[in-house]
Amino acid sequence: MKLAEHAGKDLFRRYGIPVPEGFLVKDPSEITIIETPMVVKAQVPVGGRGKAGGIRFASTVEQARSAAKDILGMDIAGNVVSEVLIEERLSIDREIYVSLSVDRSRRLPLLMMIKEGGMEVESAPPAQITSWPIHPFVGIPSYVCRNAASKLILDPQPAAQLEAILSNLWRLFWEMDCELVEINPLVKTFDGRLIAADAKVVIDEDAVYRHPGLIEAAPNLTWLEREAREKGLAMVLLDGDVGVLANGAGLTMATLDNLALHGAKGGVFLDLGGTDDEKVVEAALAIMSKAGQRVILVNIFGGITKCDTVAEGLISAKDKLRFETPMVVRVRGVNEEQARRMLAERGIAASRDLDEACQKAAALGGV
Ligand code: GDP
Ligand code: MN
Repeated sequence: MKLAEHAGKDLFRRYGIPVPEGFLVKDPSEITIIETPMVVKAQVPVGGRGKAGGIRFASTVEQARSAAKDILGMDIAGNVVSEVLIEERLSIDREIYVSLSVDRSRRLPLLMMIKEGGMEVESAPPAQITSWPIHPFVGIPSYVCRNAASKLILDPQPAAQLEAILSNLWRLFWEMDCELVEINPLVKTFDGRLIAADAKVVIDEDAVYRHPGLIEAAPNLTWLEREAREKGLAMVLLDGDVGVLANGAGLTMATLDNLALHGAKGGVFLDLGGTDDEKVVEAALAIMSKAGQRVILVNIFGGITKCDTVAEGLISAKDKLRFETPMVVRVRGVNEEQARRMLAERGIAASRDLDEACQKAAALGGV
């Protein structure tokens, strides 16, 4: 899960990594006072805003408002800007690139630094790039910080600051279950301070539940996807009309493929995961029923998730929510006969065969 810049900077602040003072606005009229020269920055979950015109400078309220007006609504790589961050403008002497990521081939975190960071970092000569594998039980040792400072040719004062920043960055990376923390640029100002001018933080999707407050910080999620996450369900909205509820991401994707074979398109990918709790099924269906699908296709392969538990959840959801959307069910595996019987009693026919169920769903979906 990638955080918006301002949310990443909130984390930086919490972990003692210096960031510019700033505030977030959704509308130019919210800008009322500008005390120092400012930067107006589009909040989109993609890089390259600078090059796309999503970063502007302003010294007066009028300039800041007009920059915000231009940037809000802008489309940056398919993301419409709905918020801008207004921050104190730094006087930049140097821009350094710093990141902590996961090096999958070494199976270790990797600290990487580039002497000349900033917007042209992709074309940095290899000689400028230095990296250090970091053992997770050790963290970033002092000697690595000193080595980094010497490669970056920093004076003693910023070098000491670099050491503090790296140790805080490591704590953030580790405690927040990050896949990536990137500061580009880490600015060295003319008066010798290091400040994170940008923040890119990516949290491991499977660990997001450990940080409940962060779900609000996830950009690009619809309210429905957000609600699903809060309930621990993996949901993705697609552009078709058949809502697919299955257990396991693989089965959910296979179901979408099979639907496509019958000419229908999935509109919701909802993975129940492995659960044997009818309440989770109920919650999933409650979310699904709000997604405005023409038909709901439930495909369960019973194992840990027992078919009769799912049937119970489906039935009580249908009773409580009283939604009209037609439902096509396919169950196979543990307690399937029992599930089929329970559903049949409530007028829901459940197939054994996936092809048959997909064909039925496609027909109901108007194909
Ligand atoms: P990105 O293009 O999406 O990575 O956005 P960044 O936040 O990294 O900003 C891009 C560039 O804008 C930086 O590399 C800087 O050159 C410039 N920039 C950003 N903030 C400031 C600032 O406070 N002062 C100055 N002078 N330049 C800035
Ligand atoms: Mn950047």
